[in-house]
Amino acid sequence: MYRSHTNGELRLANVGNEVTLSGWVQKVRDKGFMLWIDLRDRYGITQLILDEERTDKTLFDQAKNIGREFVIQATGTVIERQSKNNNIPTGEIEVLVTKLTILNAAKTPPFTIEDDTDGGEELRMQYRYLDIRRNPVKENLIFRHKVAQEVRNYLSNEDFIEVETPYLIKSTPEGARDFVVPSRMNEGQFYALPQSPQTFKQLLMVGGMDKYFQIVKCFRDEDLRADRQPEFTQIDCEMAFVEQEDILNAFEGLTRHLLQKINNVDVAEFPRITYEEAMRTYGNDKPDIRFGMKFGELNAVAQHKEFNVFNQAELVVGIAVPGGNSYTRKDIDKLIDWVKRPQVGALGMVYARCNEDGSFKSSVDKFYDQEDLAKWAEVTGAKPGDLVCVLSGDTTKVRAQLSALRMELAERLGLRKPDEFAPLWVVDFPLLEWDEETERFHAMHHPFTSPKPEDMPLLDTNPAKVRANAYDLVLNGNEIGGGSIRIHDKATQALMFDHLGFTPEEAKAQFGFLMNAFEYGAPPHGGIAFGLDRLVAILGGQETIRDFIAFPKNNAGRDVMIDAPASIDEAQLTELSLKLNLKS
Ligand code: ASP
Repeated sequence: MYRSHTNGELRLANVGNEVTLSGWVQKVRDKGFMLWIDLRDRYGITQLILDEERTDKTLFDQAKNIGREFVIQATGTVIERQSKNNNIPTGEIEVLVTKLTILNAAKTPPFTIEDDTDGGEELRMQYRYLDIRRNPVKENLIFRHKVAQEVRNYLSNEDFIEVETPYLIKSTPEGARDFVVPSRMNEGQFYALPQSPQTFKQLLMVGGMDKYFQIVKCFRDEDLRADRQPEFTQIDCEMAFVEQEDILNAFEGLTRHLLQKINNVDVAEFPRITYEEAMRTYGNDKPDIRFGMKFGELNAVAQHKEFNVFNQAELVVGIAVPGGNSYTRKDIDKLIDWVKRPQVGALGMVYARCNEDGSFKSSVDKFYDQEDLAKWAEVTGAKPGDLVCVLSGDTTKVRAQLSALRMELAERLGLRKPDEFAPLWVVDFPLLEWDEETERFHAMHHPFTSPKPEDMPLLDTNPAKVRANAYDLVLNGNEIGGGSIRIHDKATQALMFDHLGFTPEEAKAQFGFLMNAFEYGAPPHGGIAFGLDRLVAILGGQETIRDFIAFPKNNAGRDVMIDAPASIDEAQLTELSLKLNLKS
């Protein structure tokens, strides 16, 4: 028996007990005549004590050779501590050691295994197994487990069945590149790893499973973007005989359950806004609504004077920054520099100070009088003491720029509180999205998403205007889930492929299996998928998903611990009928 108790377990009530503990040596304090060892495991830390008086000499000398991170087993008697440590649950006792076994010696770790470590990101990733011994990482993984467990509990209680779908499949388009796997037995042929189980979950509906979910790995070969992982986890869900309303209710239920169980937060009914409104009011399809600063469109009150910058703009739009009138001229200049950075890309920024006495002072006083500025304040909801920031230009671009400014200012003003939760549904997404590069329409969600029946006639006349039965669940400015009602008849699916530029042959070759299935009694169905990594990070009040993944990849998509990806040897290449054609 390696242990009778864990290192987080012993209390005053155990005084006098003979116990055996195992774990890692966090720290050794050697006073010469007395020695303390902090023994750590997943459950906590227990202090071991040995001294010249009470401890056998051989044992005492042996203990002096123990170093940090050694794996040891100790047997002894629980005694009350002279000086208690109120910071840890076991702080009132210690174990007077009578027997010690070194189960495994350890090299000095490359960074300190403490809550605040001296190890940089790369080093911690290289020795992630040591990093996982640290409380913050360990606790994040346990937290993730709890969230996953609550998801399973909730959905199982709601009659969802978890079904596994295959990883070696054919391409499922979710807008990224596929990771491919060569097939040794089928020369020159490849599997694709799923970007999501989309087609399989739809086939499960045709199979009559009715309510499906799966906590599942998905793989997307995307260009490097901060805080993206090439493999990530989804809570993937699908239901049959449902309309959009049913899905929204079902998964609002799940989200509310999680916020309740995990964060002890009760959220009332989630607000719903259309994509069009989200873009107009927040310049963003995943608005953070923990704070206001809604957009005010100013064309009507800013394009009647001689100010050409505004007169030539498609959109003039502003926000009120609460308390922003306290900014100095220098602060504002810095803000203007900030919006002009290439990452934001604005050409400039016009502002109007709202003085406490109700008067205004703007950077364009030459063109606009007090009456004009009062209207700007009214449209943006600015109060005395606020600052109105105005951008102008091409609608799409200027909305994105003002949205970036809104988020930045909210961050600076401390309005993005991690312990506040503001979910909302964004509905009525466009079905199609114009892609500048390929000069073609792409499915905004995916090609299986159903258009709104009333918008179908627009498919031929104004495809960009067709709305889909597609929705996103947004939490604190992050898209945490997205889904749609699906097409479930062959004709509509064929029409959709046609609009996406597939020839009937291409559609058949790639998705014939799904179209065939639609001919054998496909029920109306729809679903959603949540990004588990991000959801867990947000519920945990943190920014980066990497901290909640046991073995994450770095920003270059590499696992620096196992050193992957890596080349494979000639023999393996030959076996897979692959030939490398490297440029260098
Ligand atoms: N398959 C979709 C995705 O991965 C989610 C869905 O439509 O259910 O985003």
